[in-house]
Amino acid sequence: MTTNTPPASAKFCSECATPLNPNAKFCHNCAAPVEGSVPGAAAPGMWGALRWGVPALAVLALAAVIYARSGATVAAPDGATAMPLGAAGGLGGAKSMDIGSMSPEERADRLFNRVMRLWGEGRADSAAFFAPMAMGAIEALAPLNAHRRYDMGLVALVGGDVKKAAAEADTILARSPNHLLGYVLAARAAEASGSAAKAQQFREKLVAAEKAERAKALPEYTDHDADIKAAAGQAKKPKA
Ligand SMILES: [Zn+2]
Ligand SMILES: [Zn+2]
Repeated sequence: MTTNTPPASAKFCSECATPLNPNAKFCHNCAAPVEGSVPGAAAPGMWGALRWGVPALAVLALAAVIYARSGATVAAPDGATAMPLGAAGGLGGAKSMDIGSMSPEERADRLFNRVMRLWGEGRADSAAFFAPMAMGAIEALAPLNAHRRYDMGLVALVGGDVKKAAAEADTILARSPNHLLGYVLAARAAEASGSAAKAQQFREKLVAAEKAERAKALPEYTDHDADIKAAAGQAKKPKA
């Protein structure tokens, strides 16, 4: 009815894309302040983390640990009280993207990228915290193609679910024998479960299949070219 307020349609957390409760001021999942609920000038960057630095991150890490252990939804135990202080005056329009209008694919991609970026930055706890959300978002795209299964497997590994990762690799290879990402994922899963010899076998199969598979020019081979090259390079390394 009003014309100049932001759309009050379905709200999603701008940090983790979790659907929010109607009157939530903070995400119940990651404790990020909800856009529009905190008046003030925009301050780009992680909601208040810059201001509160270590304490805010420590709370997040703690929440991640609790989350990982319980497997249940985090009610932002201390975050609920700690975050508002850190976030006061921050946020605003820092994230202008309308998450609510995202397609399920965009949402899955966003969460996948987020998990991988955190992992790449060495923030394993945060990455593991978001992994279940990313997996849920990918699962929502079922039926999954080989590429999505690979992404799912990577996220599962970050979240510590090696079995899931191995199962995705199995499915990829059952449907597309010699799929290079199937081998990459199978090798990583084998390694994560402590089986270096098995991992090496998968990488050697990858190398043997690489030429013929590359000729198929699958888009996921381009997207994950670095992963394939890394696995191939490792296969050729003499064993230590
Ligand atoms: Zn969130
Ligand atoms: Zn991918």
